[in-house]
Amino acid sequence: MVLVPDFEVTGGECEHTNVTDTKVDATCTEDGYHIIVCNDCKEVILNETTDAPGHKIETKVLISPTYVTEGERVSYCTRCGEHVSTDYIKAVKSPFTDVKSGDWYAEAVYFAVNNGLFFGTSDVNFEPDTNMNRAMLVTVLFRLDHGSVKPDNTISKTFKDVPANQWYTGSVEWAAENGIVAGTSASTFSPLDNITREQVASILYRYARYKGYDIDASIDLSGYKDSSSISSYAVKPISWANAYGIINGVSPVKLNPLGKASRAEVAQMFRKYKDNILNDFTAK
Ligand SMILES: [Zn+2]
Ligand SMILES: [Zn+2]
Repeated sequence: MVLVPDFEVTGGECEHTNVTDTKVDATCTEDGYHIIVCNDCKEVILNETTDAPGHKIETKVLISPTYVTEGERVSYCTRCGEHVSTDYIKAVKSPFTDVKSGDWYAEAVYFAVNNGLFFGTSDVNFEPDTNMNRAMLVTVLFRLDHGSVKPDNTISKTFKDVPANQWYTGSVEWAAENGIVAGTSASTFSPLDNITREQVASILYRYARYKGYDIDASIDLSGYKDSSSISSYAVKPISWANAYGIINGVSPVKLNPLGKASRAEVAQMFRKYKDNILNDFTAK
């Protein structure tokens, strides 16, 4: 039998000068290939495949769990972007016997601890009902502002009762220099006095002013029966703080401006400040 080629032989070896070159890159899930065929002699000059490499999975926490709420984690491919899975992360167990997930301040305590603002009084106690003193409050504010940068406690220049080398000296000096605290007199700060609710509101108000955030918001406080007991310097700050949900009544008709602020209340006020002021203004 004589084989008749179905192509034209032009004499001698084909030089493969007229080829079809097809190249398809591999994707995460499908092989790639590279085929070169001569259009004249139909010879397959190259036939290479590249294996699909599979997804390159990375896992990212979208929402961190707290003592109260669960978090969320997603797995996705960093090469093709394919979403692989979403998992829930169990709520974190509070390490404090006096902070349970159902307590009104549990979320706030988690916020304070997780952001390094203030911590338990021991590994197992937070003491939510213990009052906070003025030195501690300003130290917490310094941490909110500076993150992990530590204050310089070696220089005292503003208040005679804030000497050098106390744990709060640098924070109080920073706050005084920037008009955030005014002291309890021209020369005193009363660092170890318990801080009152109206003092916390005033300090957060002046801190917002220092940062250039809105301080014009205000709300009518006359619905609170004790609104007339607000110190005159604190009326505008409390009205501002109430408008932003930073300080709320202890009951629908009681603001308790002169009441001592507990650690739980301070945690809550800072959390609301972060949620309602910082997130709002730093996003712009
Ligand atoms: Zn050829
Ligand atoms: Zn992929």
